[in-house]
Formats: sequence, C-alpha cells, structure tokens
Amino acid sequence: MKTTPFFAAVLFFSMATHAAVPHSVPHWSYEGQAGPQHWGDLSLDYQTCHKGKFQSPINIRDTVAGHLPPLSLEFHTAAEKLVNNGHTLQVNVKDEDDFTLDGETFHLMQYHFHTPSENQIDSHSYPLEAHFVHANDEGELAVIAVMFEVGKENTALNPILAAMPMQENQEVAVKERMDLKPLFPEDRHYYRFSGSLTTPPCTEGLRWLVMKQPVMLSQSQLDAFKRALKHSNNRPLQPLHGRQIVE
Ligand SMILES: [Zn+2]
Repeated sequence: MKTTPFFAAVLFFSMATHAAVPHSVPHWSYEGQAGPQHWGDLSLDYQTCHKGKFQSPINIRDTVAGHLPPLSLEFHTAAEKLVNNGHTLQVNVKDEDDFTLDGETFHLMQYHFHTPSENQIDSHSYPLEAHFVHANDEGELAVIAVMFEVGKENTALNPILAAMPMQENQEVAVKERMDLKPLFPEDRHYYRFSGSLTTPPCTEGLRWLVMKQPVMLSQSQLDAFKRALKHSNNRPLQPLHGRQIVE
C-alpha cells in the first residue's frame, strides 16, 4: 500500500490516540516530577490544586467555639470491594452508613487511609488518618476524618488488612460485613471547616469534619498499612486563606 504523508500522519495520530486512551487520567504521585508541588501543572483539570483557596489538608488550630453538637452516625455498612490503587487503600461500601449535617443526609461511599496523617491538630501529625467520604443526593461531599495513634490493636482493621491486595491496581470483593464502630472515637465531637479533595483534581466545596479524639491501632497494623502502600501518601499542609475552623 502506498502511503501518502497525509495518510501516514492520520494513521499515526489515530494509533497514538488509541494508545493514549488507557492513560487519559494524568499520572500523579506523592514525590518527584508528578508530586504535590506539580499537581496543578499536570493537567488543566488539576489547576485547582495550585489556584484553589480552600485546599486540604490543613493544620487545625486557632479554632472558633461554635458549640457544634456531637456527630450522630448510623452504622449498617457492608463493604463491597477492597482496592489498592497505588495512591491509597480504599474500602468501597454499598449500603448507607449515614449521618445528617445541615439538615441533609449524607451516605458513606468509600473510606480510605493516609499514612502519616494529612490534617494535623495543633501541628501534631498522627501515624494514620482515615477518610470516610460521604455524598448527599446532590453529589456534594462531606468527609469525616479520624486520626489513629499507636497503641491497642483495632479489631475493625484486621479484616481489611487481611484481605487488602498488596499489589497496586488490584481489587478484591468482600462478602463479610465489617463493624465500623471501632474506627470511630467514642467522643463524637469534631472540628469543621471547608476544604477540598486532597488528591487531584483537588475539587473544592467539601465539608470536612475531623474527629477530635483519636482511635488506636497496633504498631504491627500500622506496619501492615505501610507495607501495602509502599510510600507515604499525605499531601503537604495547605494555607487557610482566611478560613475559619469551628469546633
Ligand atoms: Zn483521603
């Protein structure tokens, strides 16, 4: 077949386009050329990571006393999938573990872990932070964050760590029900502020609730998280830009 330069160019372009499809989400990471300092340059979709004024995580201090009532959580969550996506270890859930905020109902969609913690409380970094990502009917997000300290073993983490894929980009289905209660502190008071996703595209407009009291996990459970993640997965602290933190 005789190939004109134009046809060759079209053919090449179409092959290149097809080859690019599986990688259409720009690669990002926690270090190096695709690390947090560069997220905003990796894609036009990630510009908020640099330009946003309500970015997460933050250092929680100089709070305003808002006398927020303790959080009321309903626990009836069944896990569906455990995912190691190379950025975090995530548990996707299927039924509603809900809570009410601002008169709206938020349903749990997934929860995942960061080590060390992303948010800090009075400049204190915790070895692990869990993010419970909830959405209301409009798709607006509210994240409940729980800090972990090393101490007693946390029974709720054992089924997660036992089944979690150790390789990146793997997922496993989960059949058993998981008891989420030990992942939340008994004292349900929290700090509240506006923030963003802590990963690209760093979308803003999230309601953040960080529980004041930490829960425990054992050193060997923490080590298991670190083995599965292979690297730290905490975005650096972001400026407040005048935001207030209410407690
Ligand atoms: Zn997170």
